[in-house]
Amino acid sequence: MDNIKRLINCHIPTSICNLRCHYCYLGQRKSSFEGKQALLKKSPEFISAAFSKERMGGTCQFHMTAAGETLMQKGIYIYIYIYIYELLKIGHYVSIVTNLTITPVIQKILQFDKELLRRLIFKCSFHYLEFKKKNLLDVFSANARAVWDAGASATIELLPNDELIPYIDEVITFSFDRFGALPHLTIARNDATAGRDYLTNLTMEEYERVWSVFDSDMWRFKRTIFGVKRNEFCYAGAWSLYVNLETGNAVPCYCGTGRQNIYDDLSKPIRFDPIGLCPLPHCYNGHALLTQGLIPRFTDYLYGNIRDRTRLDGSHWLQPEMLNFLNGKLENQNSEYCVLKQKIIISRRIAEKVFASIKKRALKIIR
Ligand code: SF4
Ligand code: SF4
Repeated sequence: MDNIKRLINCHIPTSICNLRCHYCYLGQRKSSFEGKQALLKKSPEFISAAFSKERMGGTCQFHMTAAGETLMQKGIYIYIYIYIYELLKIGHYVSIVTNLTITPVIQKILQFDKELLRRLIFKCSFHYLEFKKKNLLDVFSANARAVWDAGASATIELLPNDELIPYIDEVITFSFDRFGALPHLTIARNDATAGRDYLTNLTMEEYERVWSVFDSDMWRFKRTIFGVKRNEFCYAGAWSLYVNLETGNAVPCYCGTGRQNIYDDLSKPIRFDPIGLCPLPHCYNGHALLTQGLIPRFTDYLYGNIRDRTRLDGSHWLQPEMLNFLNGKLENQNSEYCVLKQKIIISRRIAEKVFASIKKRALKIIR
């Protein structure tokens, strides 16, 4: 049985996508859909050495996500599925965030050995209205079926949005028919706001009433943490990393100082320093980061359970190995710091923040 040692969030700087969902986070940014292609130049051998279990300290979960569709790449340099293969081959677990419509790449991945596929999960974004508009509903559901039939895991995730409300009954019927269960729900956020607020015109009472019909524990947990500033000691950076897969630049989470490049010298150990104090308005991906334990004992919710569904016939979306691994807590495989050490780290982070803001102001004055 494998236990999770670290959570490695991999950013793939590809900003191309075959869809144009109206709520897309990327569409809210200036750089969105600018057609940037990730230049994955490192060889497969380099990737397995850079992320070897020895260097990472044990078995990790690698979470692949792009600034567009993760599996969309033009034929230059190394394809992302080759990196995924390498990571699985050396014993890690991999999750891929995808709209599950790039069929040729999905088919290539599903040809991996069965033993590797058991450690692979597709996080399938179910863009119902966009799929309907582009006639992709059958492609999406056929690919989800192909993933399950090949022995990998797939979890179906729907983004609640006001425009979808008139279609909820249709979505429910389609989901039971094609996936054997209802999709899980995430929360649409508005990245254009400083607080990364809910993207909805509903009141919170209406929002709760409308979307609770999906009975999603993932959504229920997300609701408890959405918009709430985290002040507990966070081990992001020590038990997790956020790595740019193209450049090797790494920071503790989606935020934080202490940037390092983990590709520059593979003989050098990676620095695993905890962030301590979260600089973000809220932990918007806490359904993964917090259920897996970056803040120890934060919740009894387990990440595997909130990704899985039991179908009407009793079968599961997640393979037993994947469910078990994702249900692991990082705090069980890593040592926690004493209160004094935590306080020292937090004081250091506060000092760094003050220094950075003074430097920024000074530079403005000089210019
Ligand atoms: S599939 Fe994802 S990246 Fe593409 S438009 Fe939709 S939300 Fe954006
Ligand atoms: S609280 Fe969440 S977003 Fe903040 S540093 Fe920790 S894991 Fe990252």
